[in-house]
Amino acid sequence: MKILSVNCGSSSLKFQMYEMPEEKVLISGVFERIGIEGSFYTIKINGEKIKKEVELKDHKVAFEILIDELKSNQVVKFLDEIKGIGHRVVQGGAYFDKTVVVDEDVIAKIDELSALAPLHNPAAIVGIRAAQEVVPNAVQTVVFDTAFHQTMEEETYLYAVPYEWYTDYKVRRYGAHGTSHKYVALRANEILGRMNTKLITCHIGNGASISAVKDGKCVNTSMGLTPNAGLIMGSRCGDIDATIVPYIMEKTKMSPKEMDTALNKQSGLLGISGVSSDSRDIEEGIHKGNERCLLAQKMYVRRIIDYIAKYYVELEGCDAIIFTAGVGENSASTRREVMDGLKVLGVIADPDSNNVRGKETLITTSDSKIPCYIIPTDEELMIARDTYALV
Ligand code: AMP
Repeated sequence: MKILSVNCGSSSLKFQMYEMPEEKVLISGVFERIGIEGSFYTIKINGEKIKKEVELKDHKVAFEILIDELKSNQVVKFLDEIKGIGHRVVQGGAYFDKTVVVDEDVIAKIDELSALAPLHNPAAIVGIRAAQEVVPNAVQTVVFDTAFHQTMEEETYLYAVPYEWYTDYKVRRYGAHGTSHKYVALRANEILGRMNTKLITCHIGNGASISAVKDGKCVNTSMGLTPNAGLIMGSRCGDIDATIVPYIMEKTKMSPKEMDTALNKQSGLLGISGVSSDSRDIEEGIHKGNERCLLAQKMYVRRIIDYIAKYYVELEGCDAIIFTAGVGENSASTRREVMDGLKVLGVIADPDSNNVRGKETLITTSDSKIPCYIIPTDEELMIARDTYALV
């Protein structure tokens, strides 16, 4: 059965088509700069990458081209072969604790939650509408980044602010990257050969979050109401003293929007180093002796260690620590620094096996009290699996 995984941004559309249940990727690609001058798309099929420059007026046009490509590359002969289309949605609020089939009520709820994810949720709706028009007979599903975290207890997801902020404005911790945390936790349980495990999953990419997962269920996660909480990220500050916000707004006369931009786009690794949000540039800066790059890296690693330590205590132990996403999968030095900072918990890094990129690997020694693994994430596959199950 052919299932399409779709991830729509405001000006992009990423897709991956699977033959299920074999989980074989048939074709994948990305449409970029939709609705903007200079739009193009790239497609990967049979190990070959093709780039085409073409006007992409909106997401519907992108979907139509996608279908033409599926046909011309003989991935499908007829549209009806596509039985399911799974859409990634960033914010599902407290409404959704699992993947669901799209109907008008579901779309209305995603729309209502746009206030909490103003860049992402409206783009997902545009993608769903476009897919409905172009492939009307496929079952459309929505897979929420927040769903995996809905198992957190009230005492974990509430903030210690006036309770009415929660009841009136839905202010609480929702988390993000749930599809990724769920995928790597499932895979870790397969590796460990059991489900009753205590895992700490570290999704460290440009955005970054850590989750505590007990028996396959999320008990805590570092992102909050929005993805700007917890860890220090590429350009996001993560946890800060909330009173910094009104203090600086008063001092500098910044508007709420300008403050939001500063905290989301000008902070994190970029804010501290003054060089870049990309950890590769930070590593290069450190090699060149840039003191602020070194400072940024130390703060970045410190925060990861703090969260792992916090979740170790909360879980009352840990059977495995997982590293995933751009930095987690690729940066041997960040992983090593984190593992070295966890020596007190009995973590012993294996420098040889840690010297690897993007490959599922055990990166601690056999006598390490907690095994650490790299597990490359695969959110598209999770979307395809959930969609296949619902179809
Ligand atoms: P993601 O958001 O998961 O796509 O991760 C993107 C981030 O991964 C980039 O911004 C880089 O900071 C980081 N990254 C990718 N490749 C490497 C690498 N080889 N070494 C260090 N960091 C990397």
